[in-house]
Amino acid sequence: MEPTELAVIGAGPGGYVAALRAAQLGLKVVLIERDKTGGTCLHRGCIPSKALIHGARVFQTVQKAAEFGIELSGAPGLNYGVLAARKDKTVSQLEKGVEFLLQKRGVSVIKGDAAFHDSRSLKITAPDGSQQTLGFGYCIIATGGVPTQLPGYPLDGKVFVTSNEVLQWTALPKSIVIIGAGVIGCEFASLFARVGVSVRVIEMMPQVLPGFDGDVSREIGRALKKQGVDVLLETKIESAAVVDGRAQLMLAGIAGVPPASGSEKIDADVCIIAVGRKPETSGLKIECAGLAANAKGAIDVDEHCRTKAPGIYAIGDVTGVAPLAHVASHMGIVAAEQIAGGARGGRNLTFDKSLAPWAVFTEPEVASIGLSEEKARESGREIKAGKFSFRALGRAQATGEYEGFVKIISDAKSGALIGFHAVGSEATNLLGEAALAWTSEARVEELAETIHAHPTFPEAVGEAALAALGRGIHSL
Ligand code: FAD
Repeated sequence: MEPTELAVIGAGPGGYVAALRAAQLGLKVVLIERDKTGGTCLHRGCIPSKALIHGARVFQTVQKAAEFGIELSGAPGLNYGVLAARKDKTVSQLEKGVEFLLQKRGVSVIKGDAAFHDSRSLKITAPDGSQQTLGFGYCIIATGGVPTQLPGYPLDGKVFVTSNEVLQWTALPKSIVIIGAGVIGCEFASLFARVGVSVRVIEMMPQVLPGFDGDVSREIGRALKKQGVDVLLETKIESAAVVDGRAQLMLAGIAGVPPASGSEKIDADVCIIAVGRKPETSGLKIECAGLAANAKGAIDVDEHCRTKAPGIYAIGDVTGVAPLAHVASHMGIVAAEQIAGGARGGRNLTFDKSLAPWAVFTEPEVASIGLSEEKARESGREIKAGKFSFRALGRAQATGEYEGFVKIISDAKSGALIGFHAVGSEATNLLGEAALAWTSEARVEELAETIHAHPTFPEAVGEAALAALGRGIHSL
């Protein structure tokens, strides 16, 4: 096969965006994908989960119809098969859109499994087993990640499952136990509890959403309980087995404290293992390109997404930087611009992990950027934190969605922004303003002085900034 200027391995939101941008900058690009265009995000992650989560939201809204004077002839029911089919349609439409863009930009897409032959060529194995070699000038590794598996668990795809299987369900189990109260675990817990499934979550740490701001974790912990989720914190699992077609877990407390459930054995129709994701380099033979994975299985990169092998870049989940689709895409653009170079209009961009916004699609949603209040205090900086509750917001009262708050943490002397945290209905939409403020190095004063339209949820951003400055108008 004719050599290419740039080979991109993996067509997830990292790889396909890198390929599109590189082609736009005039490079000859080959994109190799062993599965479907769109990667985890489109087929097993962001999009299918959010399509289902939106279904739960609509269901919840309809359940509240009477509050708004809307009369229904009976209690609303949910046909999960129809919701799942709608999700599949959304995914397939988006997949076609990405394929169309790749074709129009002149990116050659090869279906197959790529492995390094040496530091300037790949061996590609097609689904029919045939092989071809592709020489490249540059390569971007964008092979993403896979669910972390727990050793000793009977992961059979039916009773013990990961997010991959959950997003393929066409009918709901009656009861679920979720191991892990991280982002994926909490999103699934909130989704399934709201559509009537009995949900338990088991977490080793003392809070849900470990690593997030303490106020955020506590608020989401309370919201999950209100939705009927039984959250067992500081609980370890001793053993897991399939018994009579159901998942059975033996629990233990931590440090001599009995398990939070009060009993040692629990069971459910299905157990979802949601303990994180790990970088995917299996079969890639990165050693043939002079690379080695770090202790976490990830490929290390610098701020330009360069690996230590000249001409070879890595982006997205495989780098272990932050497992987020928009981070993968941003890194893809950074790498493509670097590879194109100034002569072809490529910009000397860098990637800064601290600017990455985090969105969690529980109900209520979570939005976060920068440091938690705990981490900000630990850093030894003198800080000012301002918090504004949605309860005091006109828009929130009008819609009846007044759970949550916006919290802004800033440097007490310079006013530099250190942390932004929000919990609330559609709080993720507040990240647009916050991310722009972070990227443009705005100070808390600028957020406070911005004229926020009334009545909107972003007014809470201005009020939280004012509160951090000690000038809150609608807060005491
Ligand atoms: P991936 O999307 O994983 O794509 C990698 C691609 O490489 C895959 O298609 C794979 O088949 C291919 N590949 C791997 N090895 C080879 C090889 N050797 N040869 C050829 N092809 C190969 N992120 C968000 O930002 N927001 C969300 O709401 C969100 N929700 C999520 C929900 C769930 C349930 C999950 C599991 C993840 C979610 N994520 C979310 C994370 C997001 O999906 C990932 O961060 C993102 O997909 C990473 O993009 P990527 O391009 O690095 O890799």
